[in-house]
Amino acid sequence: MTGLPQPVDNLGALEGYHSPQVDVAVRLNTNESPYPPPAAWVGAVVGEVERLDFHRYPDRHAMALREALAQLHGVEAAQVFPANGSNEVLQTLFFAYGGAGRSAAVFEPTYAMHSQIGMVTSTTVIVGERGPDLRLDLGEVKRVLVGAKPDITFLCSPNNPTGEAVSREVVEEVLHLAPGLVVVDEAYAQFSSWSALDLLGEDVPLVVTRTFSKTWSMAGFRLGYLIGPPAVVAALEARVLPYHLDVVKQAAGRLALDHRDDMESRVSALVAERERLLAAMADLPVETWPSDANFFLFRPLRRSGDEVWQGLVDRSVLVRNCSSWPRLGNCLRVTVGTPDEGDAFLAALREVLS
Ligand SMILES: *Cc1c(COP(=O)(O)O)cnc(C)c1O
Repeated sequence: MTGLPQPVDNLGALEGYHSPQVDVAVRLNTNESPYPPPAAWVGAVVGEVERLDFHRYPDRHAMALREALAQLHGVEAAQVFPANGSNEVLQTLFFAYGGAGRSAAVFEPTYAMHSQIGMVTSTTVIVGERGPDLRLDLGEVKRVLVGAKPDITFLCSPNNPTGEAVSREVVEEVLHLAPGLVVVDEAYAQFSSWSALDLLGEDVPLVVTRTFSKTWSMAGFRLGYLIGPPAVVAALEARVLPYHLDVVKQAAGRLALDHRDDMESRVSALVAERERLLAAMADLPVETWPSDANFFLFRPLRRSGDEVWQGLVDRSVLVRNCSSWPRLGNCLRVTVGTPDEGDAFLAALREVLS
């Protein structure tokens, strides 16, 4: 045979997930923390790195990190599965509960990686629609879950890119209706007033995923985790690559938890800044959606989303352009940054809209 073989044909029209990185002064497009991690944590990591045995494989079960996470959430270490970003947690969930002949339900618009990893793992992705207000619609949820009986049901709370948290009542109702595993992606939970962690139980088919990428100012480290029933954690462990978490990451994650107060004060500052920005947006010709996260969605009323996005880039402010995404015509998503970044964003937006 000559030429290269064809890869598996399971991506449909998908191009892959990417957010263009344009060179600008104010980057508000990927929902990271605008604040670097605490200097004391960096110092602790550097100190630890000098003591690590780099010629040995890391602890395969990352026990010290798991125990620290278990303590943070008041659960057992056997309920914690850490991985390289919550995206690797999601992928491992698909290895265990999805795959060819199985299905997963998502409610769009939502985090694109849920359906993308579904496709890459040859899982059938069932797409439900959020309501016209972009919130979860229980009638539609019921139609999808009862009709398609998905093996995995994804909820994202707060939902990316719409911003709102799913209420406890809705998660309970989904748990009642779902025939398989319910995954609540809580990448932004610290900005919200409640967490589905409250609903976990040994026999409850619910898992919650978290990440160090957003609130913990550690996007560069690639660390996330899942909390769920021990049997689910065991199923994930049986499928993930051995030694997937390197020694430095295990130490960095564990040491980060010593700086919880710092993280919590950053979260409070970002929530206050979010509300300041949303209040300022009320005076502009835009539609906004309320947010329980560190970002919010808005739609210019008299200009196209593409024009406003370009106008902001021309003024050195980068936001996420969702204008061409299905169901989000003309919408832009802005990450909450520092107050200075917020002022730069508002000034640029006022100019573009005037
Ligand atoms: C940013 C984000 C993640 C984070 O993924 P990591 O792999 O942990 O960086 C997960 N879920 C949602 C909904 C996100 O927006």
